[in-house]
Amino acid sequence: MALSPTFNPIATSRAADVISRCQALAHFSEDSAGLRRTFLSPPMHDCHRAIAEWLKPLNITPTIDAAGNLRAVYPGTDDTAGRLLLGSHLDTVPNAGAFDGPLGVLLPVALLEQLEGERLPFAIELVAFSEEEGVRFGTPFIGSCALVGNYDEEFFNRRDANGISIRQAIQEFGLDPAQLSAARMSDDALAYVEFHIEQGPVLEALNLPLGAVEAIVGQSRLAVTFTGKSNHAGTTPMNARRDALAAAAEWMVTVESEASRTAGLVATVGSIQAHPGATNVIPGEARLTLDVRHKSDAIRSQSVQRLISLAQQIAARRALTLNFATFLNHPAVAMDTFLTAQIETAMRAAGCPAHRMPSGAGHDAMILASRVPAAMIFLRSPGGISHDPAESVLLEDVACAIDCGGHLLKQLSASPEFLQSVGSPATSQRTDPPRG
Ligand SMILES: [Zn+2]
Repeated sequence: MALSPTFNPIATSRAADVISRCQALAHFSEDSAGLRRTFLSPPMHDCHRAIAEWLKPLNITPTIDAAGNLRAVYPGTDDTAGRLLLGSHLDTVPNAGAFDGPLGVLLPVALLEQLEGERLPFAIELVAFSEEEGVRFGTPFIGSCALVGNYDEEFFNRRDANGISIRQAIQEFGLDPAQLSAARMSDDALAYVEFHIEQGPVLEALNLPLGAVEAIVGQSRLAVTFTGKSNHAGTTPMNARRDALAAAAEWMVTVESEASRTAGLVATVGSIQAHPGATNVIPGEARLTLDVRHKSDAIRSQSVQRLISLAQQIAARRALTLNFATFLNHPAVAMDTFLTAQIETAMRAAGCPAHRMPSGAGHDAMILASRVPAAMIFLRSPGGISHDPAESVLLEDVACAIDCGGHLLKQLSASPEFLQSVGSPATSQRTDPPRG
């Protein structure tokens, strides 16, 4: 039986503030009918102003870096002890909910308020990323890539649907693209911790408020084409057909059943096109996409090979040809083991069972992990709903997250291992971050 989290009335009141602030930010939208707030769009200015107001009582004045990220530093007692980064993103998908991203910005604000002026040995830097979803320029993680210095000239020239380049967008927002290198995270960064809604049904099914993310899953994406022979749908007997779409259908069902047999694997055929695509013509060609994800890169690549081999068998049996190409191959990104263990301890201290889980979606933590130890805490998503106006969080879960975050800050403040990690050399997991 799951323990119920300790009821903490102060955390509950702060949780109500976090939720109402997320809802307040949701009014800052490019669309009048719903929430849509993309990279460097005018409503981002409104978000920055609102967050600056909420930071005023803490005597913190935020700055906006050249990538449009809001940065705010709560000083520590020891200037040489480094800084802990806490944050998430402020941009949204079209017709978004209020919590995907902003929750991970406003929970840290509540944690700073909860300190009631107390200073920790290390500083805390709040980072509200300008871009994570990839909506405006088709390239995600622009905000966090600026912190790790992962961009090039080609990046500045990418254009949105109106032909505006990233360079122009930065200028139109009142920022200077030449200052982008100054957006890099400080050399004294100790770690990055991100709170985020789960965006899935797992925690709800387990009746748990929080999850400690152990890894962000790796992804393979492939384009697959079955080629047969188009012919007359009326005159070609069933035994004389080379129907590419029927082969694709057989393979899709196989993908689903094979993935169901492997723990933790998700595999999706998300798009299919039949050619020539007429009612009275046997399809001579079927093009599909395959998306495969798992926290283990070995299991993911074995599964991709197996699914392609099954497609080849289906094609051979039906006298078709099969072509495939991999167009994306992202390795899984492990979260920092020390931080994740600390998060589990903090969860238990908050009266919440410590549950480890992978993240099936990409997050800013995945980008930051290339330069600094990174960890994530998921909050239950009621109904598993996200990227939709019905997206929500439970008051008691946000209170539990605040309680957990408070314990985490105390633990890290008392941890010689954490405090001595400033300036430590890169670990094996610090590699070039994935590009969106
Ligand atoms: Zn998000």
